[in-house]
Amino acid sequence: MTFNDFNFDDTLLEGLFSMGYKQPTPIQEQAIPVLTNNKDLIACAQTGTGKTAAYLLPVMNHILHAEKRHLNTLIIAPTRELALQIDQQVDGMGYFCGIGSIAIYGGNDGITWEKQKRALKEGVDIVIATPGRLIALLQAGDINFEHLQHLILDEADRMLDMGFFDDIKTIINYLPKKRQTILFSATMPPKMRLLANQILNEPESINIAISKPAAGIVQQAYVVHDKQKEGILKEVLKNPDYQSVIIFSATKENVKALEKSLKAIETNIKAFHSDLEQPEREEIMREFKSKKIRILIGTDILSRGIDVDGISLVVNFDAPGDPEDYILRIGRTARASKAGVAITFVNQRDQGKFSRIEDLMGYEVTKMPIPAELGEGPAYDPEANKKMDGKKPFKGGSGNKGGGNRNHSGGKKHFKPRK
Ligand code: AMP
Repeated sequence: MTFNDFNFDDTLLEGLFSMGYKQPTPIQEQAIPVLTNNKDLIACAQTGTGKTAAYLLPVMNHILHAEKRHLNTLIIAPTRELALQIDQQVDGMGYFCGIGSIAIYGGNDGITWEKQKRALKEGVDIVIATPGRLIALLQAGDINFEHLQHLILDEADRMLDMGFFDDIKTIINYLPKKRQTILFSATMPPKMRLLANQILNEPESINIAISKPAAGIVQQAYVVHDKQKEGILKEVLKNPDYQSVIIFSATKENVKALEKSLKAIETNIKAFHSDLEQPEREEIMREFKSKKIRILIGTDILSRGIDVDGISLVVNFDAPGDPEDYILRIGRTARASKAGVAITFVNQRDQGKFSRIEDLMGYEVTKMPIPAELGEGPAYDPEANKKMDGKKPFKGGSGNKGGGNRNHSGGKKHFKPRK
């Protein structure tokens, strides 16, 4: 199957090809015909599968053929990072067809409020918004969805994790009942089914095998005491093959502390966390993308939607809280069929959790020997630790589950007007 089989507008195809997309990915092959037929869809697909283009392409094609152009599509995303990335994909694919889009998210000043409102008045086809900021606009009457035809919830599971269930339902009350609704999620917890039943109309359903890391990722684990982690990491980072590295840690405090400590061996390193101002975050991402920064340390806020090619190493300094987080984190490497290495430090408390991740993937991750000078690690006994977990559930893990922001004030404008 090729993109020519979908009967897309030539200008859209031009945009696609200029981005280097040659062939549709499996989620695109399956979702595009369903969405072109105007059906509702619930799709289980992770970041990295090409899910964004899977819903953007049919929607953009539809916009191009609309008789009259109005604000046509609303995409709700959990974080500003994801909202911006979706907007960038609209820009890229829509480069030759003049589709106007705006990303709306909280955390900025009052001037951008005004600019944003003006941009909405001038007219855009697609709004990409985080829930809190969108509700503020809706309540102020600054956005009008009377002509809306497509609603997309992206990374819906993360939005539920972040407590946006009620916000989403509030937003939906402002939308026309007759619309196409599309829900994308990496996982399908029961609450998602509940939401889907309430907002989708006889949806088709697609499930792109989740919970399997890409084949190109070499996975390794070190079974360690906490105090051994830094020493091993410093050894690992000496390897010059690791030119672009992401390190995940459980909390932003840990992230900051680790940045400080690693600066002793590598100056080309930055911490990425929710205390940074948005322009700083954007600058860091730009520099990481362009490989000016070698090592980026962050919480799970980094694990979704970050679209950077050529990451050679992902390190889970703290083992993630659940299997989906693990797969999302290590999925930052080996993108687009390239090889990459993912290393996880597993302390005694995390052994049960890590073993469940292995169960889910259906294989064991190679356990690496600890360098002799760092002493012996603990014994690996996941079964015992699984039982211990049962008695004393560990609440740490991927500490920044919330990841994004729910700031109702301010709002940075990122706007490309309709041509
Ligand atoms: P996503 O799952 O939407 O986050 O997409 C992951 C990455 O794959 C992004 O960098 C996209 O630009 C890229 N991508 C999406 N579709 C294709 C395709 N058909 N061919 C090549 N790259 C793609």
